[in-house]
Amino acid sequence: MARYTDARCRLCRREGTKLYLKGDRCYTPKCAIGRRAFPPGQQGPSRRKVTEYGLQLREKQKVRRIYGVMETQFRNYFRKAERQPGVTGENLLRLLERRFDNVIYRLGLGASRVEARQLIRHGHFTINGRKVNIPSYLVRVGDVIGIRERSKSMSRIRENLERATENNPPAWLEYDSERSVGRVVALPTREHIDIPVQESLVVELYSR
Ligand code: SF4
Repeated sequence: MARYTDARCRLCRREGTKLYLKGDRCYTPKCAIGRRAFPPGQQGPSRRKVTEYGLQLREKQKVRRIYGVMETQFRNYFRKAERQPGVTGENLLRLLERRFDNVIYRLGLGASRVEARQLIRHGHFTINGRKVNIPSYLVRVGDVIGIRERSKSMSRIRENLERATENNPPAWLEYDSERSVGRVVALPTREHIDIPVQESLVVELYSR
C-alpha cells in the first residue's frame, strides 16, 4: 500500500498552515510552522504570484494531506461524492470524516491520524466486536468502536485511553470512558468538520 514517508512538517510548511500530522508535537513550540513559516525548498521564502489553478491545487493537497489519502484514492472519494445527492464538496469531506482512522483520531484514541492508521493496521481496534484493520473503512451510524482486550495493556494504548478520557469528540461521535468504547451516533455534517479548507476549490479543480 502506497503511503507518504517524507518529513511531514514539510507538508504543513508547503500548505502554510498546521495540518496536525505529528500528534502532541504539533501543540508545542517545536512545531515547524511556528519556527519556519515559509514553504520548504530553495525557492521557499520567495514570493510567487499564485494563479487560480494554483489556489485550487493547494486546497486539494491540503485536504488530501490532512486525511493522509493518496491521489488515486482521493479522486475515488471525489467521484463517489459527486454521485451522492447534495453539495459535492461537503459530501467529499463527510466521506473522508467517516474513515476509520479519522474516527479513532477524533475519539482521541490516536494522537494523530497517522498514529491512528498504524494502530488500526496492527489490529488493536474492533467495530461491533469484530477486528477491523482497514484504515479506510467507512463507519456507519450505530457502529461501536472498541479496543481489543489484549491491546489494553500496551503503554501506547494506555496513553491514548487517557487522552480519549479528556478529549471532546465531535457531536456525531460519543465516547464512554468507563467502558473504553466509542459510538457513531450520527453522520457528520459540515458544521462538525473543523478543518480550515474551502472544499469548493477542490470541486472547481476537478471540474476543469
Ligand atoms: Fe505540522 Fe505538526 Fe509538524 Fe507543526 S509539528 S509543522 S502541525 S506536522
